[in-house]
Amino acid sequence: MKLFVTDIEKLDELQTLKGILYVLITGLMFYLIIKKRMDLYADTIDELRISITELEKTNHTLSVLESQLYDLAYYDELTGLLSRNMIARKVLEHIEHSPNDILGFVYLDIDDFKHVNELKGHDVGDQLLIQIANELKEIAGEPHIVGRLGGDEFVVILKNNLHRDLLLDMIKSHASKIHKSFILDGDEYFVSVSAGVASYPHDGKDYKTLLKCADMALSIAKQRGKNQIILYSEVFGSELQKQTDLSNLLNHSITKKELVVYYQPVYNLESNKVRSVEALIRWNHPTRGLIPPMEFIPVAERTGFIKDLTWFVLKESLSQIRAWEKEGYDMMISVNLSARVLNDASFLSKLKRVVAEDKILTHKCIFEITESSILEHIEESIITLNELRAMGFKLSLDDFGTGYSSLTYLQRLPLHVVKIDRGFTRQVKFDNDQNPLIKYTIELAHALGLKVVVEGVEEVYQLKALKSMNADFIQGYHIARPSLPDELDKTLFNKTENPS
Ligand code: C2E
Ligand code: CA
Ligand code: CA
Repeated sequence: MKLFVTDIEKLDELQTLKGILYVLITGLMFYLIIKKRMDLYADTIDELRISITELEKTNHTLSVLESQLYDLAYYDELTGLLSRNMIARKVLEHIEHSPNDILGFVYLDIDDFKHVNELKGHDVGDQLLIQIANELKEIAGEPHIVGRLGGDEFVVILKNNLHRDLLLDMIKSHASKIHKSFILDGDEYFVSVSAGVASYPHDGKDYKTLLKCADMALSIAKQRGKNQIILYSEVFGSELQKQTDLSNLLNHSITKKELVVYYQPVYNLESNKVRSVEALIRWNHPTRGLIPPMEFIPVAERTGFIKDLTWFVLKESLSQIRAWEKEGYDMMISVNLSARVLNDASFLSKLKRVVAEDKILTHKCIFEITESSILEHIEESIITLNELRAMGFKLSLDDFGTGYSSLTYLQRLPLHVVKIDRGFTRQVKFDNDQNPLIKYTIELAHALGLKVVVEGVEEVYQLKALKSMNADFIQGYHIARPSLPDELDKTLFNKTENPS
């Protein structure tokens, strides 16, 4: 520059200008760089803001989910009652805070609830559960705790420090307040409840033990006919164990060929012949000996084994009928059908199939049904009985007189025969003892077009008295005890050419 600018002053000015220019350009460059950075930061801050809002949203959803999960874990979704986990927690809390206070642990179960679901559908079943839950909550009140374990099972924890001996009476008086009938889907539905009770600290010192004891007591309540409340007792454990052992043994009894069918003749008072026999099951256990049906039939009914057992008896006795037919005897067979079998739809459909395939001699087979098994589900039973009748089976009402119904009520049932229970026969003491109940039942049964069998005839005077009262048939030790086919006296058996 010195070459072109000779004037020193000018040179200074130029130098200053150059400096200013340098500063300006550098500043501009810095500005541009900083601005770019600033823009970038602004974008990042916006993004950060968006992220923060999203994070807040997620947090909210998470806390909603968390509380829903909490509710799910601790409250029952359908009824709003405490769930199993929460009941366990409450019991634990109580034991920790007031270890010396007595707790009542009530385990409730609605009798035959599955029938509501089967007959009316799950929505109606749910409605019933909700109504019962509300009722339990109201009856129990504060500070007691009501929870649902699942299905139709509820738990009530009573925190009133009531002595064990008084607990049951108190629960019973509360239980009597539970409504007996509920309106569901416009229909009235009758409900009964079974319950098992255990108390802290007497029966158990933790939730699990209390639940186990109350559950055992509940099983016993169910076994003793439902609709009752039972306080836990130490003997229940071994009682239930014995039954489990028996039921395990029973499950193998058919394959091990331990079940045997005995036959007891039914004697016709008019023809003095035997045209039918009742099939009565016997369990011949290798070490326990002959176990009577009253001991194992209830177990078989509970476990469902009764269905296999009934098939066994039916098949055995029908082949016995065929065997007798070959020997020239025209005989009929009576087979006992318990409630569990009568009310089982799969039994009926299997029977229909077998009847169609094997051509079972349905007209030679009588089913004996007790009043209580019919009354348990009267409408469905009438349908089933009509179907059995349409297939050609004869139907007999067993143990008549032990239930509550009158014969007039039983008119609705498509029956052929009524069997008067041996409890009445025992009251007949001499030749012409006209027991009014037997006499009236025979007259009414005849008026309804039914035949009458009188059970438990042990003496000749009973036979005479029953004949004079116009009974059609008798069955009992006086004629013959239940026996194996070979041991039966066949001289009275109805011959093929001589039907009576
Ligand atoms: P049930 O159907 O009332 O059978 C009649 C019972 O009375 C039989 O008892 C029979 O042995 C008894 N018995 C007959 N005559 C007399 C008599 O003159 N005096 C006395 N004291 N008793 C007499 P068992 O064989 O012990 O059967 C008892 C019950 O077990 C039967 O009562 C029936 O309810 C049930 N049962 C037996 N076999 C079967 C079966 O195959 N299936 C089902 N579901 N139940 C059965
Ligand atoms: Ca019977
Ligand atoms: Ca009977």
